[in-house]
Amino acid sequence: MYRNTFAHVPTTLFTKVSILSFIMELFPYPLRKSQKAIMQTIKNTLESGSHMVFESGTGSGKTICALTSTLEYALAHDKKIIYTTRTNAQQQQVIFELRAIRNKLSSNKEQVFGVGIQGRANMCILARKNPEFAKGTAEELSKLCSHEKKKARNTNQKNKGCQYYRTFLEQKEKVTDLVEWATKTLPTAEEFITHCEQQHICPYEMNRLLIREATVVVVPYVYVLNAMIRNMLFDWLSVPEEDMILIVDEAHNIPEFIRDLFSVQLTTYMLTNCLYEAEKFGDPALVDGTVTVSRFCNLLLEIISTLRDTYVYGILESGIRKGPIEKTDAFIPSNELETELLSRLTITSKKLHDIIGDLIAYGEKIQDYRQKEGKLPRSYLHKLGVFLDVWMSLESEQYAKLVVDASQGKNPRIEAFCLDPAVGTGILRQFHATIHMSGTLEPLEEYRDSLGLPEDIELISYPSPFPQEHRRILFVRDVTTKYAEMARDKKIIPRMKKYITDICNTFPQNTMVFFPSFDIMSNFLNDGMKQDITRCLYVEEQGMSQIDLMDIVSDFKECSSKQTNGATLFSVIGGRISEGMDFPAEELEVAVIVGIPYPKPTARQRGLQRYYDIKFRKGWEYTVEAPTARKILQSIGRLIRDEQDRGIAVILDRRASRFTRYLGNLTESKHPLRDIDCFLNQQSYFGKR
Ligand code: SF4
Repeated sequence: MYRNTFAHVPTTLFTKVSILSFIMELFPYPLRKSQKAIMQTIKNTLESGSHMVFESGTGSGKTICALTSTLEYALAHDKKIIYTTRTNAQQQQVIFELRAIRNKLSSNKEQVFGVGIQGRANMCILARKNPEFAKGTAEELSKLCSHEKKKARNTNQKNKGCQYYRTFLEQKEKVTDLVEWATKTLPTAEEFITHCEQQHICPYEMNRLLIREATVVVVPYVYVLNAMIRNMLFDWLSVPEEDMILIVDEAHNIPEFIRDLFSVQLTTYMLTNCLYEAEKFGDPALVDGTVTVSRFCNLLLEIISTLRDTYVYGILESGIRKGPIEKTDAFIPSNELETELLSRLTITSKKLHDIIGDLIAYGEKIQDYRQKEGKLPRSYLHKLGVFLDVWMSLESEQYAKLVVDASQGKNPRIEAFCLDPAVGTGILRQFHATIHMSGTLEPLEEYRDSLGLPEDIELISYPSPFPQEHRRILFVRDVTTKYAEMARDKKIIPRMKKYITDICNTFPQNTMVFFPSFDIMSNFLNDGMKQDITRCLYVEEQGMSQIDLMDIVSDFKECSSKQTNGATLFSVIGGRISEGMDFPAEELEVAVIVGIPYPKPTARQRGLQRYYDIKFRKGWEYTVEAPTARKILQSIGRLIRDEQDRGIAVILDRRASRFTRYLGNLTESKHPLRDIDCFLNQQSYFGKR
C-alpha cells in the first residue's frame, strides 16, 4: 500500500524499510483507524506536492499524525518542516511529540531533531531583562539587536554591546556544548531559553546555528506570514521554499490572524506621542517649510475628530446630532483623509508624499538617537510616516477604511481593515506542500477560499474517533442573548441566571460557564450571581496575566469531583481558555454556553460580510455562521480529550438550533437539570471510569 520512498535517504541514517513499517516505527502510540487514514492522505499530499486542509476533532491526535508522516517524507527527501502554531503551549506540545517519536526509535534517535523558536521579545535576553525593550516590536528589537551586535563585534570597543552576543562570539566551547546538549535533549523553546540564560549566551543566535541541523522548526504564525520575519527565518534555514513542508496547526485562526497583521491604524494616542516627540527632539518644518511636524500632527488629530463626529456620532454641519450614539465605528470614504489634508494644507499630492518621506526620515533620526542613548529605537513619527505611506497605497477593494471610537471618545482612530486574507498567502504556493489542520475548520471550502488556495486541493473532515454517546449537547429554547428579544422580554436574563446557578450548584462535577464577552460576564456577576453560586467559583478576568490565568486554571482543575466537591470557572468564548487549554477526565465535565457568540454588527463586520458576498456569494455563511460555530465548538471541545472522556454541554440560546449542521448531536432540553443528571448518572458513565 505504501510506496517505498527511502531511495534518497542516506543509508547512514536509515535502513531501507517499507514506509508503513517506518511510519509504524516512528509512530509512538497505539494507532487508531482514523489516524492511519490521516497519515495516508498526508503522505499522498506530500508526494504530489500539493495542499491539504483537514478537520479532525480535538484530542484525535492531529499533531502526532502530521509530524510522523511529514517527518518520514522529510527525512527521505531532504526537506525541512515548518510547523507553525498560534500559542507557545501548542509549540511545546509539538516538541513533546517529537520526543515521543525519538524515544520510539531504536537507533539514530538524534536524526529526529526539531527547534522551537519564539518571538524576539521572548528569545532576546536583553529584552527579557528590560521592561522597556520587552514591549518592542519585532522591527524595533531587530534594529536594537543589530546595533548591539555591531558594538560587540567592534574590537575597538572592548566590553561594549550585547554581553550575550559576546559570549556567543568568544566562548566557542560553550557554544559547542550547548549545541550538543540541545541535540541530545530536544528542549522546548522555554527550556532552551532558560538554559541559554544560565549559560549567559544569546538563545536567538544559538537557534540560528541549531536550525540548520533541525528537520522540524516550530514557529509562531508570524514567522511565516510576515515577509520581513519570514525572510530572516528562511535565510537561517538556507534552503529554498520548495524544499520546505508547511504544517499549519489550529488553522481556523489563520484568516483572522492575517487580517490583523495586514490591517493598519492611526490612533489619537499615537499622534499625541508624535507631538511629544516633536516637543522633545525638535519641531522641524517639513518639505521646505510647508508645515511643521507639530502642525501636521495637530491637523491629523482635528481630522480624526471631525471624521468621528460626522460618521460615528452623526453630528451634522450645524452641530446637531442626528440621534443617540449607537455605534463604535463607521466607514469613511477611501480618499477622505488625503482630500482633507490637501485642502487644509493647500498642497499637491506630490508635496504630501514628500511630507511623508520627511516624517519617515526624521523618525529614523529619532530612532538612532534613542538607540545611542541605550533606549528602545522607537519613534512614533516614524510609525506615522509608515502608516500614511501604507494608507495611501492600499488597494481599496481589499480594505475597508474606517473611523473607530471603541473607548468612549478616549482614543478614536482611523483604520484600514484588511478584508481579504489572501493578500498574505501568496507564499503558501511556494512551499513543497502545505498541511492545514484544526479541530474546528468546517466549512473547509471557506478556509480554502479565504486563503486563496487552489480549488482542487484535498479537503477532508474526519469523523471523531470517540464514541458519540460520550458527548451530549443540549440547548434550551426559552432564553437568548439576542439584544432585541432581551429588551422586549425582561424575564430572559433572570431565567438565564437561574439556569446557570442551578447547574453550577446542583452537580459536583467541574463546570465551566462561557460568556460571549467580559462585559456580559461582569453584568451577570455584579447582578448577584457571585453570591448565588454556592460552590467554589473562579473567574477569568479581562487582561489577566498568563501566570495568574494559569494559577486559577490549575486551582480549578484540582477541585475536580474526584478530589473535592468540584468548582465552577467563568470564562469567555474565544478566549485563552476556550481556544487552547486541555481539561481531561474529571477536570471538566459540564460546560454552559451563555448565548450564541455572533460577531458584533460593527461597520468592520458588515464590510467583511459584504466583501465575502461579492467575492464568494457567501457573506453570512463565511463571516458570521462559520466563525460563530467554531467558537462554540472550541468551547465544547474542552470537554472531550480522549476515548475515556465524557462531558455534557448546555447552550442557553434558542438560536443554537441553527447550528445543527456544525454541532451534530444537538438536542433540545425542556429540563436541563434532569437531562444533565441523567447523562452524568448513566450506569456506563461511572462504570467505565
Ligand atoms: S544578540 Fe541576542 S540577547 Fe543580544 S540583543 Fe541580539 S537577540 Fe538580544
